[in-house]
Amino acid sequence: MTRQPGWADRAAGVLLGTAAGDALGAGYEFSYPGPDLPIGMIGGGPFDWAPGEWTDDTAMTLAVARVTATGADLTSTAGLDAVAAGFGEWFDSHPKDIGNQTRQVLGVRDGNAAAMTRTAQQVTGRKGGNGSLMRTAAVGLAYLDDGPGCARAAQMVGALTHDDERAVQACQLWSHAIGQAVRTGTFSGVRGYLDLVGGPVADFWTRRLDEAQSADPQSFSKNGWVVHALQTAWWAITNAGEQGNARHLAAALELAVRAGGDTDTTAAIAGALLGARWGASAVPAAWRRLLHGWPGMSARDLVRLGLLTARGGRDDQLGWPSAPRLRYEGCDTGREPVRHPHDDGVWLGGYDAAFGGDFDAVVSLCRMGAEPLVADHIEFWLVDDGWAANPNLSFVLNDAARTIRELRARGRTVLVHSVEGRSRTPSVAARYSRHLGGDPRDVLAAMPWADPNPQLWSVASGQDRRYAD
Ligand SMILES: [Mg+2]
Repeated sequence: MTRQPGWADRAAGVLLGTAAGDALGAGYEFSYPGPDLPIGMIGGGPFDWAPGEWTDDTAMTLAVARVTATGADLTSTAGLDAVAAGFGEWFDSHPKDIGNQTRQVLGVRDGNAAAMTRTAQQVTGRKGGNGSLMRTAAVGLAYLDDGPGCARAAQMVGALTHDDERAVQACQLWSHAIGQAVRTGTFSGVRGYLDLVGGPVADFWTRRLDEAQSADPQSFSKNGWVVHALQTAWWAITNAGEQGNARHLAAALELAVRAGGDTDTTAAIAGALLGARWGASAVPAAWRRLLHGWPGMSARDLVRLGLLTARGGRDDQLGWPSAPRLRYEGCDTGREPVRHPHDDGVWLGGYDAAFGGDFDAVVSLCRMGAEPLVADHIEFWLVDDGWAANPNLSFVLNDAARTIRELRARGRTVLVHSVEGRSRTPSVAARYSRHLGGDPRDVLAAMPWADPNPQLWSVASGQDRRYAD
């Protein structure tokens, strides 16, 4: 099972997509927004969330992800016990919102995973809530190269609180699909999983997926039930506009919220798969900047945990994402920043300038260490290479340029930088020029050392019209 180019961006997008859907839906839980109501990350809702605050869906996902980010095996006693302990820690934080089944199980506080699983088996009444599916994202990410391990882990993590055949199947299907999306950048794992398992499980879910793609969400409106929750997520993914480009992620999350009901959960479920398909680079900066929640984390923590999980707990050769500050050996990182030719409140430079404290905001276009900056810090996922390494290139360039404009509208001074400021920095500066109506070629005159990747430059400067703005 090979990982196709861009897999790291997609791995980083899984938890981020979950949280984005969760926080988007949180303000609309139990409501049915009409087609004309704008959907925004506004907070509020029945539990009075702050704008961008994620809820139990992401919190429980992170209780799993903190374990997978160490490289631990979720199917081992130690791994599953660590997840159970994390659920307990979250429960003890007195969360505002907690599902009925989960509350019944975690309220018993029996210590380890085996006991928790037994407690879940003793729950009576309806047991097929969506509470295990909503937190399965990290499972798909942790077993990218191990299909049978993914299915086992999805079953075991789900069964900690949800002893239900359909809930287990849903977790296995979605975890597989998330892994396949990270590997290949497609949604093929949703149907592909059913081809793998066959039999009555495949028959059941094939009918449900067909219904989700073709029917109205009123046909599967009891989305507190795991089956209808998965159908609502798949309905939103397959029926949203912007199919085939990075804007699909936000469009599908908004549509999931419009379906109504358990909006934070259906959008979190959709978000895990959308983030896996489109990557962290497809999650708009305006959303990333707002995201926060238990256990005191923000968007860049989600990226870090996602990457570590997909890499079996290891950093890359630079020490990213765990090292406090990265050392770009052999690179000219110390260049003095220069002013943008069309906006003298925007500066263009290299890596070292990000740490000087001379700017209100820092827009980073390269890998950064874990150490927080003094300045307001916004990161964009750009690889110093061409189209193939940047599948969402035009989206990212526009998202960065828009973000710079918003910062400037609030009077902030902004540093835009990459490692050396030779390729990605002039490219984003060129896109910003176009947003301002200036000539992108002036950027190259202002930065005589610039030597942008020709593909980056042609898209950023608007020479390449195949890439819509
Ligand atoms: Mg929730």
